Formats: sequence, C-alpha cells, structure tokens
Amino acid sequence: MEPIMCPFCGGTNLFQEDDYSLELDYEYWTIHHWECLDCAQSFDKIEILPAPNSFETINNNESTIH
Ligand SMILES: [Zn+2]
Repeated sequence: MEPIMCPFCGGTNLFQEDDYSLELDYEYWTIHHWECLDCAQSFDKIEILPAPNSFETINNNESTIH
C-alpha cells in the first residue's frame, strides 16, 4: 500500500516511517505513517483487516451453508 501524494501540499517527496500494528478483538489494524519532506506535515493511513479469528468464523459459516 503506497501513498499517492501528500494530502496537504500534493507533494510526492514522502518519507515512510515504520508501520505498526494493532490487534483488536475482530480486526487487525496496520497503521502506515508518512512524513512529507516538502511541507513537513505527517499523515497516516490505516489498513483494517479482519482478525484471524474472524476468518475462521466465516469459513465455518460457509461450510455450514453448503
Ligand atoms: Zn506536503
């Protein structure tokens, strides 16, 4: 997942810091953090995936339906 451009100035001269992750009950969040080297603003993008437990639940439901 790549940033398109800085939301503040539209610059593409971005520095990406280390991602970090949060594991919640039903979701797994990956937070990507960038700093714009043109205007010095920083911004995040959060990617939310179902937690592994949710995947198992979905698979179980599908096999029950079939
Ligand atoms: Zn910028």
